[in-house]
Amino acid sequence: MQCKHVKENGSQCKANSMTNSDFCYLHNPNISEEEKKQGQAR
Ligand SMILES: [Zn+2]
Repeated sequence: MQCKHVKENGSQCKANSMTNSDFCYLHNPNISEEEKKQGQAR
């Protein structure tokens, strides 16, 4: 499955969507900015 997020320039995100989600990690509305930062902290 491909991420369904469409960027401002009209192109679709090419990343694979997460399991149980239509969006990739970066565009998943269920993941807050804080969680993303924590995920990158390691
Ligand atoms: Zn995406």
